[in-house]
Amino acid sequence: FERKKILVLGAGYAGLQTVVKLQKLVSVQDCEITLINKNSYHYESTWLHETAAGTINYEQGIYPITSVIDASKVKFVPAEVTAIDKDNQTVNTTQGEFSFDYLVMALGFESETFGITGMDEHAMSITNVESARKIKQHIEERFAHYSESEVKDPNDLKIIVGGAGFTGVELLGELAERVPELCSQYNVNAEDVKLICIEAAPKMLPMFSEELVNYAVNALESKGVEFKLATPIVAANEQGFVVKENDEEKTIEANTAIWTAGVRGNALMDTSFDGVKRGRIIVEDDLSIEGYPNIFVIGDCSAVMNGEGENARPYPTTAQIAMQQGDHLAKNLKAVLDGDKTSKFNYDEKGTVCSLGPNDAVGHVMGKDLQGKKASFMKKVIDTRAIYKIGGPLLAYKKGKVL
Ligand code: FAD
Repeated sequence: FERKKILVLGAGYAGLQTVVKLQKLVSVQDCEITLINKNSYHYESTWLHETAAGTINYEQGIYPITSVIDASKVKFVPAEVTAIDKDNQTVNTTQGEFSFDYLVMALGFESETFGITGMDEHAMSITNVESARKIKQHIEERFAHYSESEVKDPNDLKIIVGGAGFTGVELLGELAERVPELCSQYNVNAEDVKLICIEAAPKMLPMFSEELVNYAVNALESKGVEFKLATPIVAANEQGFVVKENDEEKTIEANTAIWTAGVRGNALMDTSFDGVKRGRIIVEDDLSIEGYPNIFVIGDCSAVMNGEGENARPYPTTAQIAMQQGDHLAKNLKAVLDGDKTSKFNYDEKGTVCSLGPNDAVGHVMGKDLQGKKASFMKKVIDTRAIYKIGGPLLAYKKGKVL
């Protein structure tokens, strides 16, 4: 009797949730579980805007993967996945080749710049801990440069954010909080700092009611954020973003440009499977891939369809759906090992909270609109719950935001 090999790629919300649940459901004799992840730590992707703005230290949002896995059942390999061969059932990594009977792909998201000229080269984006730390460091360097220069460059104190979606707004909330701190640290006049958000659509945060959107705009504007809606960015260059305003192109200059307006699934999905759009694979009911009942995809690399036929649209990719998928997939893997049938994944959408800084937020949770301190508290509960679900009470106490 040979133990089945389960290979899990990625230890974000989706992959790690699968593993911590599965290790509780199976015994050592049932299967051999291997988890592969680029870093030896897990990071809270939903906190990366705080690391980028510098309102939290990056270490608060990470923990060692080995601290939450049961080493008797799961082998952890820190390595980068470089290729997936679905037909030969092998995965190549920087630590060699791995074969599998069952594969779980949970390699998360990347920035999507939609081919906008110069965006990849000239703007920074928030995709992982390193990129978030780079933004923090870059902003500090610009403030330091301004402060030390005899001839001041006002663009050193200008931060432009492309996109007024969820990530853009959350980032602006943290930046608005950080600016006064930076001003006192580098002896800079707060009025000289400019935080500008540029968005192509005429409206922001489409998932929220008009009242909540107005609340968010007022809260951020009162802290100095300037919004330019209905202003598409057509290029990025060394000066800043080139935008279209009243059919004319003009450059909004800044020495810090951050792109938050697009995410896609991991590019390895496009190179390993056919017909993949922006790194996301439409899943079957049980989270497997069409034609490959032994290969599963979850988290930001997956597309779970909502609705039937022509009207079907994928659910937005979130940590919330990623964790629920991980939970469900662990049960399906156990079923497969037991020779039972897998079951359908049903998403239970509980709501969304968008932070506007450390103590303010807007949200729609369990059918109710929330704003201000209440919404902010709810956000901290959600952040802490994600840690609790994977690491239990001790980790939630150490890393969480409400205990
Ligand atoms: P990830 O969290 O991206 O994890 C993927 C893992 O795979 C990482 O550990 C990565 O290092 C690893 N990996 C990637 N490539 C390789 C490779 N080649 N080899 C080995 N390992 C690799 N969602 C919400 O529900 N609520 C929120 O409030 C919210 N806020 C957000 C705020 C920000 C600033 C951002 C950026 C996102 C936010 N999201 C939020 C979305 C959420 O973070 C993602 O949907 C979620 O992280 C997806 O989880 P995942 O497990 O699929 O991927």
